Amino acid sequence: MTAAATPKTEPRITSITAWRVELPLHEGTYKWSGGNQVVNFDSTVVAIETNLGITGYGEICPLGPAYLPAYAEGARTGIKELAPALIGQDPTGLMALNRRMDAAMRGHPYVKSALDVACWDILGKLSGLPVATLLGGRYGSEFKLYRAISQESPKQMANKVGDYRQEGYTKFQLKVGGDPDTDIERIKACAEKLKPGNVLVADANTGWQMHQAARVVDAVRDVDVYIEQPCPSYEECRAIRDRTARPFILDEVIDSQAMVLRAAQDRAADVINLKISKVGGLTKARQIRDLCVSLGLAMIVEDTWGGDIVTAAISHLAHSTPPEFLFAATDFNSYVTKSIAIGAPKRKDGMLAASEAPGLGITPLSDALGDPVLRVG
Ligand code: MG
Repeated sequence: MTAAATPKTEPRITSITAWRVELPLHEGTYKWSGGNQVVNFDSTVVAIETNLGITGYGEICPLGPAYLPAYAEGARTGIKELAPALIGQDPTGLMALNRRMDAAMRGHPYVKSALDVACWDILGKLSGLPVATLLGGRYGSEFKLYRAISQESPKQMANKVGDYRQEGYTKFQLKVGGDPDTDIERIKACAEKLKPGNVLVADANTGWQMHQAARVVDAVRDVDVYIEQPCPSYEECRAIRDRTARPFILDEVIDSQAMVLRAAQDRAADVINLKISKVGGLTKARQIRDLCVSLGLAMIVEDTWGGDIVTAAISHLAHSTPPEFLFAATDFNSYVTKSIAIGAPKRKDGMLAASEAPGLGITPLSDALGDPVLRVG
């Protein structure tokens, strides 16, 4: 006897909910170029519910409003604007879903990021697979992290190198992009604290003019340090790249596959910084990641900032990146005092691993989220 085929219920998005969460820092303040600082990170958590009873989660947390063309309230306003276009759509058709988001709202990749990540969480839960598997497969048991060192005096930053090494980190990213003479001191003081195998990056976050960057790279020509995004524009960065033998990282200007191709063709970078929300979510970050692997470009895999859910999303993308191309990743949930989800990856000896549970492997803590600020559907 043949059983009648059960009609398959197609997954559909039924509602989108968002919460605003404040994430204070263990160190009180995070400072970078141009006198910018953040005391309390303003993060947005998104839940996408489906007709199948499965809910996916995502998170977007800009590094304040002055880092990229993105800000926290803008994420929420954008999600409110975009959500109606997603109700009734299939959350597992990630490329089709991204096309729909791009058709409904031009640009604003950071608005789309948490929505895209929540749909990857749904796809993982529906298929019973961790997101890392869906992104191409897990490499090894863990991967390396770097530690960002907030902009302080050269001595304070050098001391932090020692402190963070005690916590297991071996890669250190200094926030420079301030007064060039102080920045030269910062880089030299921190370099003196390095042990064999340690890696030092000086990230100016677009903070130098070309003449300032030229002075810094010349003064540190004998220091084993990577130079990251010295100036605002791609052209200015290229001009500095041509004047230094130091390995070079591009970050803020790398926001698309087209920019990766341009940088690769121009040999403008040795490493690129891939931030999930900068490019619009995991779907586009994976495309860029795979393009970088094909081009032989190493990557820092991370996001602008975030808590447990952003850290989980980073961990799945990083853990599914071939290790020789993964320069480092970031565990933002260890920088902040507040936990917003259980199951998020936790740093151990400077290393992190993605959850092996289906989806992102996290469950938000309703007490930490409080009341929603937005519900559509
Ligand atoms: Mg950077």
